[in-house]
Amino acid sequence: MSRKNIRKRLSVPKGTTILTAKPFAYVVRSTHRNEKCDHCLQSGKLSRCAACQYVYYCNRSCQRKSWSMHKEECANLKRISPKIIPDMARLMARIIIKLNQGGGEELGYYSDTSYRKFKDLMSHYADIKKDEKKIEHFMCLCGVLQAFFEDVPVPNAAELMGIYGRICMNSFNILDLDMNRIGVGIYLGPSIMDHSCKPNAVAIFEGTTIIIRTIKDLPCLDWSQIRISYIDILKTTRERREELLSSYYFWCNCEKCEEPEPMAEAAACPNKFCTYPCSSDADICENCNTRFPEEFRETFEEVSEFTAHHLQSMKNVVYLDVSQMCLKKQEGVLHPLNVQHVQTLQAAFDSSTSLQHWEEAESYAEKLIDGYLLYYGEIHPLVGILYLMTGKIQLYLKKPKLALEALKKASAVLTITHEEKHTLMQKYLRPLLYQATIEGV
Ligand SMILES: [Zn+2]
Ligand SMILES: [Zn+2]
Ligand SMILES: [Zn+2]
Ligand SMILES: [Zn+2]
Repeated sequence: MSRKNIRKRLSVPKGTTILTAKPFAYVVRSTHRNEKCDHCLQSGKLSRCAACQYVYYCNRSCQRKSWSMHKEECANLKRISPKIIPDMARLMARIIIKLNQGGGEELGYYSDTSYRKFKDLMSHYADIKKDEKKIEHFMCLCGVLQAFFEDVPVPNAAELMGIYGRICMNSFNILDLDMNRIGVGIYLGPSIMDHSCKPNAVAIFEGTTIIIRTIKDLPCLDWSQIRISYIDILKTTRERREELLSSYYFWCNCEKCEEPEPMAEAAACPNKFCTYPCSSDADICENCNTRFPEEFRETFEEVSEFTAHHLQSMKNVVYLDVSQMCLKKQEGVLHPLNVQHVQTLQAAFDSSTSLQHWEEAESYAEKLIDGYLLYYGEIHPLVGILYLMTGKIQLYLKKPKLALEALKKASAVLTITHEEKHTLMQKYLRPLLYQATIEGV
C-alpha cells in the first residue's frame, strides 16, 4: 500500500462519528417532564404513569422498557408527591438502583478494545470534600434520598459522595433538536473526553443516544487528543476559566484561553464609522484617534453591570422588552462583538422567536451570527441551528431567496456536526431546503 493510502485510511476528517453510546443512567429534567417521554425523551402525545402520576410516556412500549428502572422509583415518587424530587437526586437514585441491579459491571466502550466502568469515572473526591458549596449541596441531596427511598438499600456516605462526584464531573446535558437541555445523563465511554474551549469534537443527541462527531480534520483517532467543551463557550476567558475551576477543578490552558481576546470586553469606538475594539480604559481609539467622551469609563461600567444584572435575571426565561432595554443602553458603548452584547442579542432573538415576532427575530439573527461565529467557531451545532432558524423565519416572511441562502449555510455546518440520517437533517433541514428551492424559483 502506498504511503498516501495509509494516511488516507488513518485520517479522521471533520464530520466523522467517532462514538455513539446509550446512557448508563439518565433523567428527564423535571421542567420538561410533562412534555418529554421519560424513556425516549421524544415529545408528542404522552400518557401519565397511572401509579405515580409523575412520569409521562409516549406509549406502552416506552413504559415497558422503562419499567425495570421505574418500578424502583414509582411508589416513592407517588409517596413524596406533590413534592418533586430534584433532578440531581433523581439521577443519584437511578444510579443507586442501577448499581444495585449489577450495573457496576456494565462496560462502556470507546474503541474496539477500550472501555470504562462506572467506577472508572473521575469523582474528584478530595476536591469535593474541600468544596463547601458542593458539600452543602451533597448533604441536602442525601437528605432528599433518605426521604425518597424506603425499601432500596442506600450506600454509605463515602460511596454516595463517590456517586455524587462522578455525576458532577461526568454528566452530559441531554439536548433536544433545538439544543434545549431536556435531560441529564451519564455516558460511560464518552466520559473519557477532556475539555477544550476550542474543541475538535461535539456531542449531539438523538433521543437519549449520544453521538460524538469530529468538527476538525484529525490525523488519527487518538482518544487522548479528543476535546469537547464542557461548558457554554459564549463567555470571556476569565468567565470560562472561573466556571471550569469551580465546577471541574482545573485551570484551563487551552489554545483559546491562552490567546488574547480583543473583542470579549471591548468598548465601541465613539466614531461610529470605526469598528475597532477599544479598551474601556483608553482615552482615545488606537485605530482612528477619536477621543472618548469624559466619564466614558463610568458609563461603560454602568452599562456592563446593568446588562449582567438583567442577563442573570433572564437565566431561565428571556423577555423581549428587557433584552431590548439592554440593547438600547449598549448602543455606542459596548462593541458589537462584546460578549455581553452577543448574549443580549441571543436573549432578544430567543424571546422574539417564542413570541413569533418574525421581523424582529430575523433582524436579531442577522446581528447575532457574527458573534456566534466568533465565540462558537464556524463549525458548531448552535451556528448551524441559527442559520436554520434564520432560513425558517425568512420562509415565514416570504423571502425564499434569502431563506435558501441561510439554509445552504445551515447545511454546510450541520452536515459536519450532525449525520445525514439525524432527525434534524431529515425532518427539518431537508424539507425546509426543498421548500425554499421551490418557492425561490
Ligand atoms: Zn417514548
Ligand atoms: Zn410511575
Ligand atoms: Zn479554555
Ligand atoms: Zn476608532
